[in-house]
Amino acid sequence: MKYEYPSVYETFRCIGGACPDTCCAGWEVDIDPDTYDYYMETEGEFGRRLRSHMTEDEDGDIFFPLTPEGRCPFLNRQDLCDIFSELGEESLCRVCTEYPRYYLPVGDYEQIDMSLSCMEVGRLFFSDPEPVRYLTQEDIMDGDPISAEETARRDDILERRNEMLSFMQEAASGTADERFEALLSRFPELSPESDEELLTAMDQLELIDERWNDIMIPIRANLTAIQRQEPAFLDHADPEFDRWTGKLISYFLFRYCLNVFSSGNWENEMRFIRRSLRFIRLMCIARAAGLLPRSSYDGRLSGQEEKNHCNSFTQNDMIDIAHLYSKQVEHSDGNVELLRKFIK
Ligand code: SF4
Repeated sequence: MKYEYPSVYETFRCIGGACPDTCCAGWEVDIDPDTYDYYMETEGEFGRRLRSHMTEDEDGDIFFPLTPEGRCPFLNRQDLCDIFSELGEESLCRVCTEYPRYYLPVGDYEQIDMSLSCMEVGRLFFSDPEPVRYLTQEDIMDGDPISAEETARRDDILERRNEMLSFMQEAASGTADERFEALLSRFPELSPESDEELLTAMDQLELIDERWNDIMIPIRANLTAIQRQEPAFLDHADPEFDRWTGKLISYFLFRYCLNVFSSGNWENEMRFIRRSLRFIRLMCIARAAGLLPRSSYDGRLSGQEEKNHCNSFTQNDMIDIAHLYSKQVEHSDGNVELLRKFIK
């Protein structure tokens, strides 16, 4: 089996109680079948507490519903996990163990990615001055078998993805925006889309994070002003902003291209990536213009001094914007699917 992952996979450590936006709040926790069996057999008072929170949805899936404050019922006042403290890390649900890692196996290849919805991942990702590096490891495990034809198709997709990543990261000239435009021109079926059409698509998303309304409403209300401010925003931006943009493009290319293996549709993945990058750009301009709430994130919780400024848009703004977008969009299969599709 061959595993491929960004270098942040090796350096990431969860900062637990020091996290500015813990992943143990805002999302219900799905309980996988193995963990369900284990919790059903857990004895004593804590076992009873586990089972008292387990709830079945209409599809028969079991989950922990959030408290009225929107937190996991096992997240304590110190923002630490009671299941971890009582039963150990190996007793966590699979989703809690894996997050913020994502696994996409296809045959004897597995893509592992790190979600920017975790701000500690974002801090490591954006503060690294080097382009995103992808590392590989191999072991003797077999993946789920796929046919020779499927293997060839997967390898074609990976080759095309890697070529696009190299183009984005190694092209000697032009801004990240210009290189991405050149890359999109390879997909002539991808029809242009106005920002107004993009917002129509964004309006249809299922609400995952309550803070999303504080983003959508001002962006919709001020779209013309935001568009007008874009040239000045880019003109005065610290050169770091171009580097952050290039990294984001790499992030989306790496994470989504391999979905073409199951969908067979490059245009839909590239449409999703283009829409994501464009909406994140609108968020950045709106944040710099003071239209979006400021984050209290100061980036220093794990020793990182904030030092990159572009006008009033900082590296910590970039980390925060990417995490808000990722939480609202990437953590809902339905939202990702909606943004893949052509919407008139
Ligand atoms: S969001 Fe990241 S750093 Fe924060 S608690 Fe979750 S995994 Fe840890």
